[in-house]
Amino acid sequence: MTQFSTFVQTATHKTLEQLSDREIYVQLLNYVKSLSADKTKNTAKRKVYYISAEFLIGKLLSNNLINLGIYQEIKAELAEAGKSLSHIEDIEPEPSLGNGGLGRLASCFIDSMSTLGLNAEGVGLNYHCGLFKQVFNKNEQHAEPNNWIEENSWLIPTEISYEVPFKHFTLTSKLDRIDILGYKKETKNYLNLFDIQALNYNLIETGIEFDKTKIKENLTLFLYPDDSDKNGELLRIYQQYFMVSNAAQLLIDEAIERGSNLHDLADYAYVQINDTHPSMVIPELIRLLTKKHHLKFDEAVEIVRNMVGYTNHTILAEALEKWPLAYLNEVVPHLVVIIKKLDKLVRKTYKDPAVQIIDEHKRVHMAHMDIHFSNSVNGVAALHTEILKNSELKAFYAIYPKKFNNKTNGITFRRWLEFSNQELAAYIKTLIGEGYLHDATELEKLLAFKDDKAVHQKLAGIKFNNKLALKKYLKENKGIELDEHSIIDTQIKRFHEYKRQQMNALYVIHKYLEIKAGKLPKRKITVIFGGKAAPAYIIAQDIIHLILCLSELINNDPEVNQYLNVFLVENYNVSVAEKLIPATDISEQISLASKEASGTGNMKFMLNGALTLGTMDGANVEIAELAGAENIYTFGKDSESIIKLYETAGYVSKDYYEADKNIQQAVDFILNPAIVKLGNEMRLTRLYNELLNKDWFMTLIDFDAYVKAKEQILADYEDQDRWNEKVVQNIAKAGFFSSDRTIAQYNADIWHCEG
Ligand SMILES: *Cc1c(COP(=O)(O)O)cnc(C)c1O
Repeated sequence: MTQFSTFVQTATHKTLEQLSDREIYVQLLNYVKSLSADKTKNTAKRKVYYISAEFLIGKLLSNNLINLGIYQEIKAELAEAGKSLSHIEDIEPEPSLGNGGLGRLASCFIDSMSTLGLNAEGVGLNYHCGLFKQVFNKNEQHAEPNNWIEENSWLIPTEISYEVPFKHFTLTSKLDRIDILGYKKETKNYLNLFDIQALNYNLIETGIEFDKTKIKENLTLFLYPDDSDKNGELLRIYQQYFMVSNAAQLLIDEAIERGSNLHDLADYAYVQINDTHPSMVIPELIRLLTKKHHLKFDEAVEIVRNMVGYTNHTILAEALEKWPLAYLNEVVPHLVVIIKKLDKLVRKTYKDPAVQIIDEHKRVHMAHMDIHFSNSVNGVAALHTEILKNSELKAFYAIYPKKFNNKTNGITFRRWLEFSNQELAAYIKTLIGEGYLHDATELEKLLAFKDDKAVHQKLAGIKFNNKLALKKYLKENKGIELDEHSIIDTQIKRFHEYKRQQMNALYVIHKYLEIKAGKLPKRKITVIFGGKAAPAYIIAQDIIHLILCLSELINNDPEVNQYLNVFLVENYNVSVAEKLIPATDISEQISLASKEASGTGNMKFMLNGALTLGTMDGANVEIAELAGAENIYTFGKDSESIIKLYETAGYVSKDYYEADKNIQQAVDFILNPAIVKLGNEMRLTRLYNELLNKDWFMTLIDFDAYVKAKEQILADYEDQDRWNEKVVQNIAKAGFFSSDRTIAQYNADIWHCEG
C-alpha cells in the first residue's frame, strides 16, 4: 500500500474505493497538511513580509501536490481505485482573497519565495465573503457574497493575536495561516491572514450590501467593499490599518525572538508594500518603535526607511490612494500625529508641492509617503518603470534616482504550465528534459525544434485536446457550447476601460456586420471574454452588458453563428483561467499604451503557446523583444504619443467616429433595435455616449489598426507550420517570465535575504 492509502486506512478504516470523491478530497487535504506540517520553516536572519490587500491564490490541492512532487503518484493511485484526481480537484472551493492581477502576482510571488528557500511570507486579511461572485441575469452583472471557507480548508488557526487600537475601540485579532510549500523544497513559509473575532455574516443584506458602520463585525467580510460613500472609505481605512498594525506587531515580535534589539530591526525584517493599500505600515512601525519600545523618533524613521520597499502597480491617478486627513483622524488619530511629522520632515527639505505627503486639500498621498520613507521604489515592467521615472513620478525620481528600480512581473510555471497544461508540460519534458522546472530559461532549448514539422503537429494536437477539455468544462460548468474547431480568441482580465474590452466588442460588431453582408471568415472564430467589473464602476458594467447582449444576438443568429461565436464566461477566476489559457490561440492584450503597468495574463498565454495580439504596453514590450517582433502581433499608438495626447488634451473621439465608416457602423450598432431589444437601453445609451463624447481611454484611436492586425493574425493562422514556428518561439522565450526570476531579482537588489 502506498503512503496515501495507508493514511486513508488509518484515518477512515476504509479503502479509496469505498470513499466518495468529497471524502477523498478531505483526506487529501489532511494528508497534504500532514506532509507540510513536517516541513521546517525557513529561518534566515532577515525575513521579508510581503504585505498585500489581496492574494488571488487559486485552488491549492493540485499546486501543493505538484510542489510536494507527488502529483503523478497520487493521480495514478486514485486512477487505480477508479477515482479521478481532476474530479476531486473540482470539489475544492477557490479562495476569494483577491481581485485581479495584483493579487495573482502576490500569489505567484509567495510560491516562488518558498521555492527559492527565502524566509519570506505573505501578510493580508482573511475576507470571509471574498470579492464577490459574479452572476449574470438579464445580460447584466450581479454580485453575490462568495462564501468560500468550508469546514475543511487550508487555513490553520494559530494562537497569535494582537490588540489593534482605533479611535473609538480596540479590536483583538486572530491569525490563520496557510502553508506555502516551495517546489520540491524541505522548507516552507506561511501566508498570514489576519481576522477579527466577531465576524457577523448576518450583516449582509441583498447582494453584497451590508451595514458598513459595524466595524467590529464587518471588517473582514469583503475585499474592497464599495467605497463610493464616506462609510465605505472609512471601512477601507479600518481594514488597511488592521492589516498593517497586525503585520507590524508580528514582525517586531518575530524579530525580537530571532535576537533583534530593535535598534537593528532593519537587519531582521524587510517590508514590501504591494501597491498603496499597506502604506500605513510605515507610520505604524514608527509608532510602535517610539511609543511602545521607546526609541527616539528620528532613529525610528531611519530604521523604517531602511526596511521598507514600495511596489507601484499603476499610473492611473485615480488608483493612487489619497485619504482625507479628516477621515484618518476619525479612525486612527494616533497615526495622524506621525503622518504630520513625516509631512513636516519632507516640507523642511523639499518645496515642490508635487512631492508633499499632505496636499492643500488636506489629503494624504499614500504613495508619496511610501517613496520618501522607503529605500526602494519599483515598477513592474521595463516600460512602466520608465514611465514612472520620466513622467508620473518624475519629481520623485529627481530627488531619489537610486531608489527607483524595475522588477518585471512573473508567473509561477508550476501552476501555469505544469498543472494547467499537463499534456504540453509532459511533451516539453520529452523534448528538453525537466531542467526548465528549476531554471525556466532552459525552455530556450526548444528553439532547436522550431522548424520541426513533427513538433508543430504535436503542438497543434495538444492545443486541440485542450480545446476539447475546455469544451467539456464550459458545458458542464458555464452552460456554454464551444466549437473546438474554431479559432479561440480570448480576452480575460478585470473589466476596465483602459484594458479596452470595448474595442474588442466593437470588433465583434464589425465582424458580425461583415458576415451579415456576406463577407465570410475563412474559419469560425470564437471570441471569449471573462472578467468582473467593480460594482461601483458603471461604465465597466455597461461594457459587460453590451458583450452579453452581443453574445445572445450572435450565438442565436443562424446566419452568423457558424462563423462567429461570442461568450462572456461567468465568474472569471483562477480556475477558469487555468482552463481557458491552454486552449487559446489568440491572446488579447490590447490596453491603451502606457496604461497597463505590466499584465501577467499575457505571460501565461505566451507560455501556453497562444500568440499575442497587443499594443506596445506593459510587459507586451518585453514579450515582443524576447519572442521577436515577427512572432507577436502589435498595433496601435505607442505610449509616448498617448502620454503626449493626454498632456495636450489632443484626443477627440468624435473625430475618429466621423472619419471612419467602420467605426461609425460599429458604434451605432450599440443602439440598433436588435441589440436594444435584448438589453437595457439606458446602459447601452450611456456606453454609446461615452464612446462618442468622451472615450477617456481612446478606444477609437486604435480601432482601425486593431482590425487590420486582427485580420492579419487570423489570416496567418491558416499557415499552421508558420504559426507553430511562432508558437515554439514564444514558449521557448517565456522563461524570463518565471516569477522565480522576479523574486530572485527582488532578493538580490532589494531584500538581501539569505536563500
Ligand atoms: C493572471 C490573472 C489576472 C491578471 O490578468 P491581466 O491580463 O494581467 O490583467 C487576473 N485574474 C486572474 C484570475 C488571473 O489568473
